[in-house]
Amino acid sequence: MNKNVSFFNFSIRRILSDHLSILDNARLRLLYYGLALSFCTLFVLVADILYQQHPILSYTTGALFVTSAILFKFLTYQPRWTLISHLILIVATLVNIVDIYIAIQDVDVVTIEIIIMILLFSFYMLGQKAGLIYSLINIVPVVLMLILKYNNDYLIGIKPERVDDTTKIISTFACFILIAFIHSHFYNAFIKTIKELKETSDKQSGITAEFEEAMEKAQKSSEAKSEFLSTMSHEIRTPLNAVIGMSNLLITGNPRPDQRENLEVLKFSAGNLLSIVNDVLDFNKIESGKLVFENTKFNIVELMQNICGGQMMTAQAKGVLFKLDVDSSLSRKVLFGDPTRMTQIIFNLVSNALKFTAQGSISVKATCIEDRHNRVTVNFSVKDTGIGIEQNRLDIIFEPFIQESTSTTRQYGGTGLGLAIVKRLLELQGLKIKVNSTPGVGSEFWFNMEFPVSTEVYEPTNIQSQTITENSESLSAIRMLIAEDNPVNVMLMKKLLSKWNIVPSIAENGERAVELVQYGNFDIILMDLQMPVMNGFDAAIEIRKMPNPQKSGIPIIALTASALFDIRERVLESGMNDYVSKPFKPNELFEKIQNLVSKTSTTKFNFSENPVVPQ
Ligand code: ADP
Repeated sequence: MNKNVSFFNFSIRRILSDHLSILDNARLRLLYYGLALSFCTLFVLVADILYQQHPILSYTTGALFVTSAILFKFLTYQPRWTLISHLILIVATLVNIVDIYIAIQDVDVVTIEIIIMILLFSFYMLGQKAGLIYSLINIVPVVLMLILKYNNDYLIGIKPERVDDTTKIISTFACFILIAFIHSHFYNAFIKTIKELKETSDKQSGITAEFEEAMEKAQKSSEAKSEFLSTMSHEIRTPLNAVIGMSNLLITGNPRPDQRENLEVLKFSAGNLLSIVNDVLDFNKIESGKLVFENTKFNIVELMQNICGGQMMTAQAKGVLFKLDVDSSLSRKVLFGDPTRMTQIIFNLVSNALKFTAQGSISVKATCIEDRHNRVTVNFSVKDTGIGIEQNRLDIIFEPFIQESTSTTRQYGGTGLGLAIVKRLLELQGLKIKVNSTPGVGSEFWFNMEFPVSTEVYEPTNIQSQTITENSESLSAIRMLIAEDNPVNVMLMKKLLSKWNIVPSIAENGERAVELVQYGNFDIILMDLQMPVMNGFDAAIEIRKMPNPQKSGIPIIALTASALFDIRERVLESGMNDYVSKPFKPNELFEKIQNLVSKTSTTKFNFSENPVVPQ
């Protein structure tokens, strides 16, 4: 409120405000006009009563008159309508009781009107609770007085004052006007409020509809993005599969030294391209929230050795010292966790260390920092003596597609997704990655992870006896069906399988595969998933439905170049036994075939029989 405004400025504009609700503004207006009206009426009444020489009524009416004048000024100074309403009601209640019990010693029409006014005013201005209290305080004395009068019990030593008819007419009229004013005023305010609420709700529904539409659009565009990436991955991985597979085959075929060198470059570049595609897909998968963490048993020493095995060789070739140090207290423990995601995290950190370190050393550590009965907390750290990172870039490098500088991109390549994937994978498990780095000296990335511990004791496997040797003899009698529509992939598979002395039958789509299984005898099926006419999922479902248990039970391995999120579940749901992602590693495929075929009884093999295939 502006304190410099003149004392005699009684403008209502000083108290009304756009920030207040319609009802609150109506309350202020009612107080303003109500007090002004009361002030004028009471002025006439006081004069009239003074003229008639009624001392008590003069005091009570005078009190009301002075109160209305003071509160009117107070209202235009500070629009505190709650306080002012309470003050009006208190004074009016007191005056009412004094009038009933002392001044007129009766209940007349004016008294009733005053009570109705107090009732309306208190409910509208202060709400239900205060309304009820003020109503009771005023009604009870009136009822009591009526009872006392009825029993002729009310006698006090003061003579009642009888006002003449003019005063009664003025009071009655003024009270009616005030009652009508209060009521009509609030009626309008309520109607306005309801209208405004309706408009707001209409607007709200409009906004909600727009919002829902925008959400739907965003959802669709995100689905389209995932779908696009998934399709792209298939489209890119299929030829990549061919390139990597072909270079593998050519390298094993005794090339000339200069050819070998070119082939190695070809293989390396294709591998690089594949890891970029995989990074983009992984990131997309994490961001879409569809990532589910596994909870399987693993041994941390074995896991770390597997992750770092290949990297150690790369480091050696670069002349960088590579040290892997896993706490010996963890060597016999079987932990629960997601080894695939662990691998992804550590692999990304170690790959970066290798990429950005030209000389010196890389040290990878897994240290047990807390060992409670059935849980351990492990600190993982990857430290290098590489190029390091500027302090002000330490946060930003974890953002997707961000690299330390543009020269990093030029010199070292990469997509800037590795650390973003690491960060998100840890965040999804409620963990944080930390980094310490000095440019020109080196960097250290570390995080702590807690694992539940199994009661089992880990028995290190004898690698020699475990490694499945690619013994061509072991698979040579297998009757294999390949369902694959891409001729390059078919050629590649045939070449690879010929190394294991397998001569597969080929179905160019799912429908043909089902047909071949119906009429022929196979020990295993390699099923591409995306094929024309009938896809691999449907074909597998059809095969599983076959009445002959020997056919419906044929092991099926899905071949997929797709990065669909729920591929594993879908493969298993459609009845297939396992899957390999293209471009697959020959060892992995060999191992899976051998595992599945060895599970089916040896009696099933009929080495003399060749697959009977309808032409
Ligand atoms: P990319 O390696 O594909 O560029 P990352 O997300 O893995 O993407 O890393 C982002 C950036 O962080 C890198 O480009 C590099 O500038 C910096 N960086 C990450 N790790 C290291 C490291 N060990 N030493 C120096 N710089 C690093």
